[in-house]
Amino acid sequence: MGFRLANIAGRAALVAGEHYYDLQAVSGGSLSADPMKAIAHPDQLSAITAKLAGHTPTGNLADVTLGAPVPHPQKSFAVGLNYQAHADEGGMEVPKAPLVFTKFPSCLVGPTATVEMRSDFCDYEGELVVVIGKGGKDIAPGDAWNHVVGLTIGQDISDRVAQFVAKPPHFDLGKSFDTFGPLGPVLVSVDELPDRDNLRITCAVNGEVRQDATTAAMIFDVPTLISCLSRITTLVTGDIIFTGTPDGIGATQGKFLRDGDVITTTIDGIGTITNR
Ligand code: ZN
Repeated sequence: MGFRLANIAGRAALVAGEHYYDLQAVSGGSLSADPMKAIAHPDQLSAITAKLAGHTPTGNLADVTLGAPVPHPQKSFAVGLNYQAHADEGGMEVPKAPLVFTKFPSCLVGPTATVEMRSDFCDYEGELVVVIGKGGKDIAPGDAWNHVVGLTIGQDISDRVAQFVAKPPHFDLGKSFDTFGPLGPVLVSVDELPDRDNLRITCAVNGEVRQDATTAAMIFDVPTLISCLSRITTLVTGDIIFTGTPDGIGATQGKFLRDGDVITTTIDGIGTITNR
């Protein structure tokens, strides 16, 4: 059995059904309330989750606003053009090695946060986000999943003007405006998911499904991404990787986000994030 970890008002909480349990309280004070520290102890999170039925819930999820489950990663990577159909829709060549950029950790917000657009050319990109548990350097692909503490959902909101104003285009700035990284709703341990390599991901805008794919279609899979990144920089607990978006983005359809649009991003087994 695994765990589902949430961030409620800056405090780590375990989630079961409609209820949440403050982590520091249900652990008898043995685990920190800090979500960044809590993810360093996945075995204890699982053990406590298995016994949650014996505790009184701290509250109902419906009554609280969730924060980003990983609010302050040291490093926040993202991967461009990691699905063939997405590269095709943009008329881009598929990269021969992972095309990696940074979403500044300062852009991360909670799963229901409002995104603040600064131009009329902002776009959605629903993505699977990998969270590193045990850190390491030169991680072999075959060992990579052992370094993942869990998975969550991310929106790689992108300002295409800021992205393409430079020639050649750059990625970091146009994707790192404040609020451009909704994350959540919870961090789900990998063993909670039926097939970690094949997760259905959808993204709808105002109820119209724009993206519908499976993570099995990634060009560079999760182990490859972790292996590549860890050859360059030591990965530490809490580092996150936005693994790329499938086809169906707004830019290729002339459907940029408009003020008040509601973006709904779902990954089966993890949940849904909803951002205006
Ligand atoms: Zn992206």
